[in-house]
Amino acid sequence: MKPTYEPVIGLEIHGELLTNSKMFCSCSADYGSAPEPNTNICPVCTGLPGAMPVVNKKATELAALVGLALNCSINKHNTFARKNYYYPDLPKGYQISQYELPIAEKGSLKVNDGSENQLEVRVRRVHIEEDTAKLAHEKNYALVDFNRAGVPLLEIVSEPDIRTVEAALDYATKIRAILRYLGVNSGDMEKGVLRFEANISVRPVGSDEFRTRTEIKNLNSFRALVRASQYEIERQIKIYEEGGTVVQETLGWDDVRGVTTSQRSKEEAHDYRYFPEPDLPPLQLLDAWIESIRSQLPELPEAKTARFISDFGLTLSEARFLTSEQTLANYFESVVAKSKSPAKTIHSWIAGEFMRYLNDSGLSIDDVTLAPETLAKLIDMVTDKTIGASAGKTVLTELFKNGGDPAQIVKEKNLLQMTDVNAIQEIVTKILNDNPKEVDEFNAGKETLFQWFMGQVARATKGKADPNVAKELMVKGLEERKK
Ligand code: ADP
Ligand code: MG
Ligand code: ZN
Repeated sequence: MKPTYEPVIGLEIHGELLTNSKMFCSCSADYGSAPEPNTNICPVCTGLPGAMPVVNKKATELAALVGLALNCSINKHNTFARKNYYYPDLPKGYQISQYELPIAEKGSLKVNDGSENQLEVRVRRVHIEEDTAKLAHEKNYALVDFNRAGVPLLEIVSEPDIRTVEAALDYATKIRAILRYLGVNSGDMEKGVLRFEANISVRPVGSDEFRTRTEIKNLNSFRALVRASQYEIERQIKIYEEGGTVVQETLGWDDVRGVTTSQRSKEEAHDYRYFPEPDLPPLQLLDAWIESIRSQLPELPEAKTARFISDFGLTLSEARFLTSEQTLANYFESVVAKSKSPAKTIHSWIAGEFMRYLNDSGLSIDDVTLAPETLAKLIDMVTDKTIGASAGKTVLTELFKNGGDPAQIVKEKNLLQMTDVNAIQEIVTKILNDNPKEVDEFNAGKETLFQWFMGQVARATKGKADPNVAKELMVKGLEERKK
């Protein structure tokens, strides 16, 4: 019988650190704001002879913060190393990185695969390095821009513990969320500040061997990570099924053609001739310093999710949605604090109408100017039946567009809910009297007509009738007209 295969995946994630200056010089790390190529540079980041690097203190703090957030142990003694290779985007001919002693190692992150199973992915190491320059390939030549060269870069390397593409996606999503929560990286993948590399092998289900892997470089979106991984898994399975062997190599991902392409045979560590960076002393971190970094850790997505479930009675997926972004979670909590409505109701509004508006207008939660207390007021007006749900949506759109006060908008737009039973009865009676044919059809068994009758009520009242009252009166009226 043919074996079925399972993937073995390990991810390497590169994220630029949000510092003011570059890793080893005082040039700005905000290279995107430089007016021209090669203006945000100095002798250190362009690799001029004799220029000496100095470690960016803030970058070490941010790296330690990430290490702690990923449950790593911090190496109090850690060192920089030279990783030697020649490429035009690397002016020194080597990258300063960390090799034998990274700043943090042996951590873990809980992830879910598609089936809601939780698994623990071990984080092998978190180390500091520097970003490269950017190349622009023209027809017969390439241009190099050193503005990005030397920007602090963090590399987070997982153990090969991931067994599904879904779990790889969840791992990457969670790392991005954590980096954003910590304020160490914007997560803006379109700008290339966060990049994934997927190491992939496949093996027969039930085996615990580690087979030859390939490494797909520079995946710049979640979509690319998923598509490239799926493609590579299929490609390797096919090779084994045809009796071949997988070659260890570095691959690129062609997003247009949807295929991985061979870039070079995989280099081994010894190819890089790593050696301790002679221009930088080892980092000696004090316990007190590490503890002060630890005290800066915010409540992270995992803990926040658990708290939202227990404090607000939300489901796992509701809590996950709200905690996916720190600003969204904070917004939700502010609305809950100002409102008398149940937290579940507030979740429904935010996950529903609120998000729909943001998506439709291409806005993010960070762009929202609607004050949480204003949204709370609006939701409370629906909860206490001052207005109906559809009127609530109208008010929300108005608030997003022009601001204002919910009560004032309700008044101006004449949206108060009709709760007066007699008034609603009058409308229901008129609809029943005006439509004898539909009444007969309904009473003869065409039950779907009930929605039509309710639609007539909504039309006659501009959606303002209390739906429960209207429904009750309609049922009664139809019953009375049964022959
Ligand atoms: P290096 O890049 O120094 O050669 P490793 O090969 O040990 O280091 O690991 C690099 C990445 O590849 C890690 O993320 C690791 O989890 C992953 N990896 C290692 N072996 C395999 C394998 N057999 N299948 C899939 N991924 C692997
Ligand atoms: Mg690598
Ligand atoms: Zn510089």
